[in-house]
Amino acid sequence: VTEAVRMDGSALARRIQGELADDVARLKRERGRAPTLAVVLVGEDPASQIYVRNKSRACAAAGLIGTTHHLETACSPQQLRALIERLNADPAVDGVLVQLPLPPQIDPVAVRTWVDPYKDVDGLHPENAGLLAQGAPRFVPCTPAGCLELLRAYEVPLQGRRAVIIGRSPIVGRPLSILLSAPGCDATVTLCHSRSRELAEVCAQGEILVAAAGVPLLVRAEHVREGAVVIDVGIHRLKGDNGSTAPERLAGDVHPEVAARASLLTPVPGGVGPMTIAMLLRNTVQACQLREDR
Ligand code: NAD
Repeated sequence: VTEAVRMDGSALARRIQGELADDVARLKRERGRAPTLAVVLVGEDPASQIYVRNKSRACAAAGLIGTTHHLETACSPQQLRALIERLNADPAVDGVLVQLPLPPQIDPVAVRTWVDPYKDVDGLHPENAGLLAQGAPRFVPCTPAGCLELLRAYEVPLQGRRAVIIGRSPIVGRPLSILLSAPGCDATVTLCHSRSRELAEVCAQGEILVAAAGVPLLVRAEHVREGAVVIDVGIHRLKGDNGSTAPERLAGDVHPEVAARASLLTPVPGGVGPMTIAMLLRNTVQACQLREDR
């Protein structure tokens, strides 16, 4: 059996970050400081702490300034709003990102409306989500943007093709469905979710299959059409068996057996994850340029 070629998101992310360096250097020269991303972390979620640290490291490596602003798990919505508004008003901040998930007392839908739409590097503000839906995006959400860059880099034909996406979240599946069906990509998109019936049969029609359900190893060989391009967005830390001292290992939404059916496949780690961060840096550089132009 031939194994799927792995789509190297780490290498592509490095290349894109290298290409950003010229813009970063120019903005630094013209403005006297590098593009700046402020990341807000609420609470102590261990995965979020890792993501936030990775984002700030990536900023430093690409010559951007990354700042982290931490609030306690028990903070009130008003405290979070006040922090976001301070960052919105700060001329030294270009991009503002609120790390998800948020504790239950804070409504993520409300939070999206608090971030200045011109600093909204996650692309989640209703104004930016609306622009994306209308085909004129300002900030494309980072994970869908990273998926598209991977498809482009590996020259995956999209026009007229069947793309199936599992997951309809506002940060991954939903915006990706809009992007893939938009003129330019021109795929025929099916968006599956937790209420979809006959998931395997529907998925097996996809020439492109994107797994963003957040369910470890959900996608098995039966979900995958022979020769399909499979993008695995999921990230899970799987513990060893009960009582085992084996270290945690990372897995995606896609089972390893899929490699025998797919033509191209993104690994976890090293696929969509690093691309998401590269797109975040790109959006921050763009936010810096936008502010300059306004
Ligand atoms: P989410 O929980 O907000 O959304 C999950 C979606 O999947 C929902 O729309 C739900 O209807 C659907 N779903 C859940 N179970 C399903 C099932 N059994 N069958 C079909 N559909 C099902 O999650 P999210 O924020 O979109 O993230 C999805 C996954 O991607 C998570 O594992 C997350 O950690 C990962 N993620 C990775 C990156 C990255 O950079 N690689 C970025 C964001 C999210």
